Order: sequence, then structure tokens, then C-alpha cells
Amino acid sequence: MRTPLIAGNWKMNGSLALVETFGQAFSRTRPPVGVEVALMVPFPYLGAAVGVLDETPVAVGAQTLSDQPSGAFTGEVSGGMLAELGARYVLVGHSERRSLFHEDDAAVLARVRAALAAGLVPLLCLGETLEEREAERTEAVVLGQLEAVFDALSPEEREKLVIAYEPVWAIGTGRTATPQQAQAVHAAIRDRLERYAGALAHGMRLLYGGSMNANNAAELLAQPDIDGGLVGGASLKVDDFLAICQSA
Ligand code: PGA
Repeated sequence: MRTPLIAGNWKMNGSLALVETFGQAFSRTRPPVGVEVALMVPFPYLGAAVGVLDETPVAVGAQTLSDQPSGAFTGEVSGGMLAELGARYVLVGHSERRSLFHEDDAAVLARVRAALAAGLVPLLCLGETLEEREAERTEAVVLGQLEAVFDALSPEEREKLVIAYEPVWAIGTGRTATPQQAQAVHAAIRDRLERYAGALAHGMRLLYGGSMNANNAAELLAQPDIDGGLVGGASLKVDDFLAICQSA
């Protein structure tokens, strides 16, 4: 059985006060046993988040990292620094990084490698735009993004990742993929993972992301190939995020 993972992605939102609120809430209310929870906070809040969530089952993660281990890269943050602060996860290939910061498949692969080298769990995001979906290219795009990373990794490395399918048209739009649409893509991803190894396909956690909220989470998470969620907007409201964790 795959352990469900509910990961919150705060993006460039939140505050130290909100970190504190989450620490208190998760100290009082535990996520259901057998459900993993993680919170991807902005870099400056990592240390505080690790501190206040330390006694809770909630892991902390970052939203991106440099592809370099150290050096003259002003403004960048390395995987080693994130690990030193206590981060466990790091998002790689989020659609906002791909589109706004021009991270192509090669850049995504380099960051996956950097995360693995630092002992972090890369949470690899895949997803098609509305234009690509309407052109019936969803599988080609998503599986292409998958292969660009997985073809280059060793069997041991592949097993360390978590994957999130996030249709770009569903991110921050309030327009969720239907459970059937999401399940179809998740099944296609799992099917493609079979080509690498049966055990990899069976064990890989595939999260859904894109306007997941307290009302639609249960139905999405009930799909056979959806093993959790990557939650943006709704992860900024502690009650909503807790409710999503409860429905996993
Ligand atoms: P959303 O964002 O839940 O606000 O749609 C999801 C994400 O970008 O990871």
C-alpha cells in the first residue's frame, strides 16, 4: 500500500505568524494515522516551520532549489542548505517555475539531481496547459516531462521521487480536474512507470494538484491511482488544509 501524502504549497505567501498558527493547529489536531503531511514554505520560513512542526507529524519542504551545490550564484539556495535547515521535500518542475522562470526539462532534471545529492525528496510536478489538453496532447506532454527525468536516473534514484500531476489550467483557477480526468492521467503515468519497473510503478506516489480544496479532496483522493494532493491556495487556510488531510 502507498502512504498518502498531502503537501501544501504556500508559494510566495504566508508569514511567520501563519507558520506559528500551523504549528499550533497540528500540535492539537493530528493528521489521520497513515497519512503523511508536508508543508512547502518560502525559504525564509523554513527554519521557523521546522521548529514549530518538530513535535508534529508534519514534514517541511522548499519550493525550489539551485542546480548547483555551492558557488558564486547570488540569490540562489542549494539543496544542502535546505537539508541543513531540516527540509525533507523540495518541489521541482512546478508549472510556475517552468513558465515564469523558464525551467525546461534539462533544468528540471538538474534540480532533481541536486535534490537527490542533498538527500532531499524531489516532488516532481508534471502537467499540461489548456491549449495542450484541447489539442489532445495531454499524455504526450505529461509523459514527456516524466521521461525527461526518469530516463536519466538510476533505478535506485527513481524510487526516491514523488510525482505530482498538476494540470496547469487547474492551478489557482478554481477549476479542478474531474476525478475521472485526473485518474485517467494518473493511470497513464503509472502505466508508463511500468516500463522502468513494476515495483516502481506500484510504489510510486502520484499526487494530484490544481484547485484541490476541502470540498473536492475526498472524491479526488478516492481514485485508485491518486495517492495524495499538492495543495496551493487551500493550504494557506489551516482549517481547510486540516480538512483535506482528514479526507486522505
Ligand atoms: P492551487 O495550486 O491548489 O492553488 O490550484 C496548486 C499548486 O500550484 O501546487
